[in-house]
Amino acid sequence: MFAGFYDEIHEEFREVVREFVTREVSPHSKTWDSEHMIERSLWSAAAENGLLGLAVDEEHGGMGLGDYRFRMIIDEELARANALSVALALHLHDDWVLPALLKFATAQQKQTWLPRFMDGSFVSSVAFTEPGAGSDLRSVRTKAVKDDDGGWTLNGQKTFIGNGISGDGALVLARTDGSEPRERGAETSFSLFLVEKADNPGYQPGRQLEKMGLTASDTAELFFSDVHVPAGNLIGEPGRGLEYAKAILPQGRLGVATSAAAVTAEVLRQTVDYVGQREAFGQSIREFQHTRFQLAELQVGLEATQRYVAAAVESFNAGSLDLVAASKAKLWASEQAKSSVDACLQLHGGYGYILDYPVAHAYLAVRLLTIFGGTSEILKETISADLTG
Ligand SMILES: Cc1cc2nc3c(=O)[nH]c(=O)nc-3n(C[C@H](O)[C@H](O)[C@H](O)COP(=O)(O)OP(=O)(O)OC[C@H]3O[C@@H](n4cnc5c(N)ncnc54)[C@H](O)[C@@H]3O)c2cc1C
Repeated sequence: MFAGFYDEIHEEFREVVREFVTREVSPHSKTWDSEHMIERSLWSAAAENGLLGLAVDEEHGGMGLGDYRFRMIIDEELARANALSVALALHLHDDWVLPALLKFATAQQKQTWLPRFMDGSFVSSVAFTEPGAGSDLRSVRTKAVKDDDGGWTLNGQKTFIGNGISGDGALVLARTDGSEPRERGAETSFSLFLVEKADNPGYQPGRQLEKMGLTASDTAELFFSDVHVPAGNLIGEPGRGLEYAKAILPQGRLGVATSAAAVTAEVLRQTVDYVGQREAFGQSIREFQHTRFQLAELQVGLEATQRYVAAAVESFNAGSLDLVAASKAKLWASEQAKSSVDACLQLHGGYGYILDYPVAHAYLAVRLLTIFGGTSEILKETISADLTG
């Protein structure tokens, strides 16, 4: 980010993160890429370094670091290591599931789950999307039916679920009033559950989905077949699941925006190095006017992104980041990442297309950012509705 954005305390935190990434991520990245799975020990190592659940308050054993700049440093250091897969896996845990617990869980639920969130023994997924319901979550078919003992029986199928195979449980959005999809005005039909995989044979990850990028992280289908969900695993009040899901979207989208900004900056830095080394027609390719102008444009684009994302982070820290502002930050930063990394790949010539070069991985990875967590089109709907009322 730009000078003056971080304070000394953030830079001290960066030292911890950089050391962690150098020791625990970089040496394993290639293996995780080929095995399509981040080794589970990464989570306990992250926990030992205090990198999980930064926002958990001291009462629950956390550090209460609600200042999102700390999360951004993790993004930036993982981007430096070309490890966006790891960054996004952590975001699911810390920026989607955790806020739901911090905002809506009872004191008892927090006592039970937050320590496990922070020590890496409960790796979580967010399970909203289904084969027939992505952008349109009101089409979710997964159903939870109340049992006589106050618990719930869950049946359904989710897809594209990050940490779906490696994780220990998921924040599941399910239909709880017996209604069917497409019954409009059914805002009160859904509930959120934290569903645990252990001792639940009906909770079955499906196949590992082969992704074009972000190959180190696992993304899977999830199947729920007569899964018993205890009453204590309902988050908040029944019937308010969609409202809660919407309430965590600003933080989830902010995390995509900060990841996008971090990757854009890192890929541009690598590209500036590359064009300085590569020669054509007897000169460094950096000396071509087109290259210089392209780099200038990319740098200005990056700085605009960083300023815009920084403004969203400041709003978040002040407790005022709303869905529209978060959607704008995600839209801008993810679209910029896509076009900027594309231009950087072009500047690498043929080598940019070869997976030995980080820019090729980044190109494939950032393609997700305009899709996951709300597609650019859905974000534009949100932004435009705010304009036109
Ligand atoms: C690698 C990966 C990881 C993911 N991780 C998770 C995860 O961990 N948890 C989770 O719950 N989900 C996850 N997702 C799902 C992701 O959030 C959805 O793919 C996304 O929300 C889009 O939903 P969809 O795929 O069903 O697309 P669709 O909703 O079918 O959209 C298809 C196209 O139609 C457009 N469209 C849809 N509605 C409108 C509209 N109203 N106006 C204009 N255009 C529209 C979309 O913008 C898109 O271009 C992941 C997806 C991927 C690919």
